[in-house]
Amino acid sequence: MSTPDCLLSLAIYTRQSLAHDDEFSSCDAQFEICHEFITANRSKGWVWCGRRYDDAGQSGERLDRPAMSQLLDDLRRGHVDGLVVHRLDRLSRKLIDLTALLTELRTRNIPLLIVTDPTLGTSATDTLVLNILGSFTEFEREMIRDRLADTRAAMKRKGLRVAGKVPYGYTTDPHTKQLVVHRQQAKRVKAFFEWAVEGQTPAAIAAIANARRWLTNPSPKKPSGGRWTPRQVADILANPVYRGQIHTANGPAPGTHEAIIPVELFERVREVIAGRRVSTTPRGKAVLAWPLRGLVVCGRCGRTMSTSVIHHRHFRYRHYRCRSHAGGRPPCKGIAVPAHELEQWVIRELSSLSPDQFRLPQRRQEVTDFQSLWAMLSEKEQIENLAAVVEQVRFDPARSKIQLSLRAGAVGAVAGIIAKREQAREPEPRRSRRKRSPADKPLGTG
Ligand SMILES: [Zn+2]
Repeated sequence: MSTPDCLLSLAIYTRQSLAHDDEFSSCDAQFEICHEFITANRSKGWVWCGRRYDDAGQSGERLDRPAMSQLLDDLRRGHVDGLVVHRLDRLSRKLIDLTALLTELRTRNIPLLIVTDPTLGTSATDTLVLNILGSFTEFEREMIRDRLADTRAAMKRKGLRVAGKVPYGYTTDPHTKQLVVHRQQAKRVKAFFEWAVEGQTPAAIAAIANARRWLTNPSPKKPSGGRWTPRQVADILANPVYRGQIHTANGPAPGTHEAIIPVELFERVREVIAGRRVSTTPRGKAVLAWPLRGLVVCGRCGRTMSTSVIHHRHFRYRHYRCRSHAGGRPPCKGIAVPAHELEQWVIRELSSLSPDQFRLPQRRQEVTDFQSLWAMLSEKEQIENLAAVVEQVRFDPARSKIQLSLRAGAVGAVAGIIAKREQAREPEPRRSRRKRSPADKPLGTG
């Protein structure tokens, strides 16, 4: 018997799954067979490495078995020169894992010797088998991909949600992953749509929501939710998920989740938004001389009070005064209220009056909204916009009582002012930054 040039230190790997605990498949039985196989080939320099790698009661479905992990570790560190197994399926029952293992062995130049099929150890066959296994793996991956695509398509056809961000107003069922209405958020979404159909802009709606301290869904940047932006509100108003549809490649399709917004309301909001023209409010409006002109009503006769100015020395006294001859009756005598005091009183009362004290058909929530928004305006803005929010100031000198009523659109008006102000602080929109075409050039220059 010739002496081998060099010794090949071989590891023996055995695995026995729980399902088959007969004697022939036990780790010991596999080890004996493998060890005999090595001994029989001693002339080639084969020796057992002296350490056992036995995974008893381990499934072949997974690679993270204790002995397998140890074996891979030792292979990578170069502690063994080759690997002996009884059957190929001892390594793994999963093609994908098996291929990964075989590829690693091959790249590390570590021979794999299979007792039941010794020819597999030869390089030509090895390569062929690897290729076949590789294509099987590839095929399996394709199959999985196709199956996933089929499943997604089938789910969409059935109106089921597949994946993606959960829209505000919904949460997901932990088991089915389908959309479930989030009661509190859904109420808010509904409010957005109701305000929008009343003509509020997304910016105004965002301002109201922020005044109510409603928060958006958490995001990586704002883990506890953030302030609403007009963009986010506009996205909600345009999202067909709220009318019960889902997004598909071919556009919105009926979903299986519960709608938050009735179809008619959703459509009406869409029309309102589509029909909205760019408003052209004049800028740099001067502070009005008479912020409540035409709004003050005489409490005695019920007629509108006129504006009246008395000049005395260097001073100018403004009053709202009952001077009307409407209805053929003479004006009430001595009914006049200093304008500045009345205006300041109204401004103060607008933010501090209890909702109950407004003589108005308005709901409490609306008055509360109005007041929190009103308080966000500067004094100048408040004076400028008194006429936009106040419907009537009723002055009753007999009972020294003043009653206020708000316009129906008061909340939206103030929200709009705040929104406009916040937008003005942001960088100019792209539209106004666009390059001037020659036609835009002012005449008479250059
Ligand atoms: Zn009067």
